[in-house]
Amino acid sequence: PLSLREVTKQYGSLTAVDAIDLEIEAGEFVVIVGPSGCGKSTTLRMIAGLEDITDGELYFGDELMNDIEPKDRNVAMVFQNYALYPHMSARRNMVFGINAGDDSYSDGEIDERVQDAAETLGITDLLDRMPSQLSGGERQRVALGRALIRDPDVLLLDEPLANLDAKLRTEMRTELDQLHQQFGATTVYVTHNQTEAMTLGDRVVVLQDGEIQQVDSPQTLYDFPQNRFVAEFIGSPT
Ligand code: ATP
Ligand code: MG
Repeated sequence: PLSLREVTKQYGSLTAVDAIDLEIEAGEFVVIVGPSGCGKSTTLRMIAGLEDITDGELYFGDELMNDIEPKDRNVAMVFQNYALYPHMSARRNMVFGINAGDDSYSDGEIDERVQDAAETLGITDLLDRMPSQLSGGERQRVALGRALIRDPDVLLLDEPLANLDAKLRTEMRTELDQLHQQFGATTVYVTHNQTEAMTLGDRVVVLQDGEIQQVDSPQTLYDFPQNRFVAEFIGSPT
């Protein structure tokens, strides 16, 4: 499991993440939801090791992660703007995902993993295209494929559906659900979209100004919001 203990991030005098305590079970799908600027991406970036933790501890199991390099964390992240390398085909983008984390795979194994992930995501026919020749949703799938083929212990998704239209977003939501069941990685999913949070999460973390307001199942959040902010944000009847 993944534990954040009093994890804090300061940027100068700004406290972007304020002493967050969170325990995430192995294989759990947790959604962090909250308004723009509340510290969602910063939290993910600290879990990935892309941002130093100012204060507090991050554990994977009983191993302290604070000073562990990103490449040694077996974490994969899909970024908010799903940056694919524009000069690389979809296939090479995905292969890069493996090589970035681990150089122990043979070429044959890499081909096989790319093929498997591509089939799961329905992008087999698109692998030789450049990102500029793909739609937003297709690029999103490639970015997810790039994260999944590393078979990460922890999968971090930062607004992965933000740039999709409503129909694609619904489709991808269902797909994400299936992918999670298939791959079983511990997943932390960030969104500012309440519907996404309530439909995808085993548990939902509501964040405001860097502080956790409530952590509960979607149903409990909806039925028993702990304060006005949560109630209004989740859209509970008041
Ligand atoms: P959004 O929904 O808009 O993506 P977010 O919840 O992901 O927002 P963060 O990106 O985590 O928000 O930012 C949290 C706070 O930290 C914001 O006030 C932001 O301006 C600030 N911040 C983020 N990165 C930096 C940085 N590198 N330097 C200084 N301040 C930063
Ligand atoms: Mg963000």
